Amino acid sequence: MDLDTIAAISTPIGEGAIAIVRLSGDQAINIVNQMFKGKDLMTVDSHTLHYGKIIDPDSKTMIEEVMVSVMRAPKTFTRENVVEINCHGGLASVNRLLEMSLQLGARLAEPGEFTKRAFLNGRIDLSQAEAVMDLIRAKTDKAMGVAVKQLDGKLSKLIKRLRQELIETVAHVEVNIDYPEYDDVEEMTKNIMLEKTMLVYQEIERLLAMARQGKILREGISTAIIGRPNVGKSSLMNALVQENKAIVTDIPGTTRDVIEEYVNVRGVPLRLVDTAGIRDTEDIVEKIGVERSRQVLKEADLVLLVLNFNESLTEQDRQLFELVKDLDVIILVNKTDLPNKIDLNEVAGLAKDHAIVNMSLIEEQGIDQLEEAIARLFFAGQIESDDLSYVSNVRHIQLLKQALATLDDAMSAINADMPIDLIQIDVTRTWELLGEIVGDTVQDSLIDQLFSQFCLGK
Ligand code: GDP
Repeated sequence: MDLDTIAAISTPIGEGAIAIVRLSGDQAINIVNQMFKGKDLMTVDSHTLHYGKIIDPDSKTMIEEVMVSVMRAPKTFTRENVVEINCHGGLASVNRLLEMSLQLGARLAEPGEFTKRAFLNGRIDLSQAEAVMDLIRAKTDKAMGVAVKQLDGKLSKLIKRLRQELIETVAHVEVNIDYPEYDDVEEMTKNIMLEKTMLVYQEIERLLAMARQGKILREGISTAIIGRPNVGKSSLMNALVQENKAIVTDIPGTTRDVIEEYVNVRGVPLRLVDTAGIRDTEDIVEKIGVERSRQVLKEADLVLLVLNFNESLTEQDRQLFELVKDLDVIILVNKTDLPNKIDLNEVAGLAKDHAIVNMSLIEEQGIDQLEEAIARLFFAGQIESDDLSYVSNVRHIQLLKQALATLDDAMSAINADMPIDLIQIDVTRTWELLGEIVGDTVQDSLIDQLFSQFCLGK
């Protein structure tokens, strides 16, 4: 594929020790060579790094001292010629370098265009491209691990294997029908189909079961802290933020355009949701009504319901219990440093299976237990499982769910003794749906939309 040469600043906008301008395409080396004073880049070996100066072609003045890496096609990220100019200056000089690249014939890259090229040139498949995107956004080490494994192609391999199973089943059926060896070929064929579809069904189900954890790793557990006024919600929030350094990624190229209250509890990223709102309104249930809190709770993966050890339960407390009864909830009985006025038996009854943690935020008691409860709730000891690496992407999850539904149709059809060619349609459809995950059967518009979600320079 012959594509023009693109350029972009690949490091985050702002002050940094190093900034990188990256070019990819046929002319990448040639363009940089025209502004580079040092070795002749056209003749250097591939995958080498060169010190030199960048000279403004107009004014002939020196812009920057740089290190330039030259990587020739096809063994590069995009499978095209790639040049990266590492410079040490601030925003102005990086911008100048980019500008000069554009003057010399490069085109400004669209967001995600480098990765898109890697995909278009067959270097990576779609799920791997999405892994790059996840990597850029990863908020904890564990989330990064998942993305790295996906980039490695683990998901792709599994999906390809499942597709292979399906296509073989379809082929098998064709052969059996065209060349029946036995009289009961119809029934035999159906049995084989049922067996294979069941197998694939179970694999997909397993993937989906892990997806929830994947989502959590990627996006953080959205956590709502609720409770009556003065029970200690803000204090809890502060304690969590203080104990657990806000998450900062070390991945170069990370843009942090969304600022949220992220905390990292034993490797579990918590996104404290709408905390400002909760702080301002004191009590979401009272001030904005039960309806609104229902809204907040609908988006929450985890609810921390705070009660006061020093007051008896009120109607409102009971209402809150009712509101969250089907969610993942941890009940916190705060202010245990004060005299006991709450009926702990009633709390236990209302809490049902949910964990209860007694705490005194003033005396810094109970935070550890809370963290343990959170870790247990979400990762039940299996966080390190390798399997987690498979699915963490919303688009993949949607497709897997559709695939599951289609397989379900196929199995019902088999059981209902429907004609084989009808069943085949469902199996083929499943094969197509799985193909969309790795990008074998996706439309161009989807590809454009996916890659446009990347940040510039990736
Ligand atoms: P919110 O309205 O639920 O956000 O509650 P705050 O966090 O603002 O706390 C209300 C009051 O309770 C503040 O004066 C806190 O200092 C106090 N408080 C919070 N936690 C404890 C605790 O564990 N023990 C005692 N005695 N007071 C606490």
